[in-house]
Amino acid sequence: MRLRHFLLLMCIPLLSTQAQVDFNRFFYDKTMRVDYHHIGTKGEERITLDKVFQEGPWPGSTVNLIDTLNLGMFLVRVFDVQSGMLLYSRGYSTVFNEWQTTAEAGSGVWKTFHESVRFPFPRRTVQVTISRRDDHLIFREKFSTVIDPNDPTQVIAETQFPPFEVIDLMDNGDIHKNVDIVIIGDGYAAEDMEKFKKDAKHFNDVMFDTEPFKERAKDFNVRAVCAVSPQSGIDVPDRNVWKNTAIGSMYNTFGSPRYVLTESNRELRDIAAAAPYDFICILINDSRYGGGGIYQLYTTTYVNETHEGQEWQRDYVYVHEFGHSFGGLGDEYYSSSTGYDEFYPEGVEPWEPNVTRLLHAPHVKWEAYLTPGIDMPTDWGKAEYDKIRAELGTMDRLADDYYEKRAPLFTRMREISQNKELLGKVGAFEGAGYVSEGMYRPSLDCRMFSLSLTDFCPVCRAAIERQIDFYAN
Ligand SMILES: [Zn+2]
Repeated sequence: MRLRHFLLLMCIPLLSTQAQVDFNRFFYDKTMRVDYHHIGTKGEERITLDKVFQEGPWPGSTVNLIDTLNLGMFLVRVFDVQSGMLLYSRGYSTVFNEWQTTAEAGSGVWKTFHESVRFPFPRRTVQVTISRRDDHLIFREKFSTVIDPNDPTQVIAETQFPPFEVIDLMDNGDIHKNVDIVIIGDGYAAEDMEKFKKDAKHFNDVMFDTEPFKERAKDFNVRAVCAVSPQSGIDVPDRNVWKNTAIGSMYNTFGSPRYVLTESNRELRDIAAAAPYDFICILINDSRYGGGGIYQLYTTTYVNETHEGQEWQRDYVYVHEFGHSFGGLGDEYYSSSTGYDEFYPEGVEPWEPNVTRLLHAPHVKWEAYLTPGIDMPTDWGKAEYDKIRAELGTMDRLADDYYEKRAPLFTRMREISQNKELLGKVGAFEGAGYVSEGMYRPSLDCRMFSLSLTDFCPVCRAAIERQIDFYAN
């Protein structure tokens, strides 16, 4: 109760900065998709317009058009040119900004990524701008273009999506008043389609058996697009395995064996447009542990667990990755290697709601959720945990006896991470966001911290609930 009250108070000043946009006055109930190229290297970028499309009905809220959540590395804003009024905004993140933190980008290589922003289809000419956060988290404009929606030479109105079957997994009615999720399979050949339907149902059941999704299930629609890939399975570059698939997902993103992303944004968006969607979940028909999730972009999850008794891991991945793409949550773990080089720069407060540099201690962004009287930072037995973690780090994850060997170490780590004295409390626990020292998470354990079916911590849960509230309106 206390939390909900706080949220209400927090949202009022943000919403009152501009009068509510009259949806029907400024928009048609259709979607405009603006595709662009994001080009750059570490510390430098250009955005160039690609194509503008008309898609199906607008799936988002017709009331909450201006973003009040302040999440994501980028912000798209749509202005009415005639009045200068802000009509729509949305924060989001990209593969590009993650790539910028890799050694490859650091060495001065320039690369191009294809991206899209979507908003309701405007009735008259709009200015679309894209801004990026600086080190003080202030959005600075990087791109601006003017689009006349009534000029057929500017907007492609033909149907782009391939004729794949769409099935309803959860139907709670009005797409404007619900969160719309689309599940798409990659690496499912024609003969795998029945498996895809089963997998989509399985992972959706897993999601809505996890809080707070379980409690808020009535606020979601979920559809599955039965995208057919020419071949089964996806690319595994470090095994020299290459597959021709619908949306080009691959392991080894940024050199990390388990990080699965696709850079084929155009294909992904065309397929997703077969169903009204706010959020995309991609199921990977492959058996190596892996996944990925980027805020407002998509999640990926492997579906074929071949280690007996470890099937829960894919279920963990699905909901964890959705925490990134839906809630804008950061990784709270610091125990696995990544392909990033200083993902969270020192001295810069992350925008994610669940990780902090604690630059203004004892004040912290999740102050409203703190357990009264808790020490800041909060001592949680990190030294012993780190010792075991170092031992685990020397083990080969792909070895046959990996699971057998890691079991006792996992047990002790779980004892520390399940310490009853601290469990469920909110403080500032050191170790978060791939950084062992000087980065903090809100709770001892969380779905964003440990590789387990743990619930989201109170701060992450609240962030997810805020997102549901924003869309289900
Ligand atoms: Zn958390």
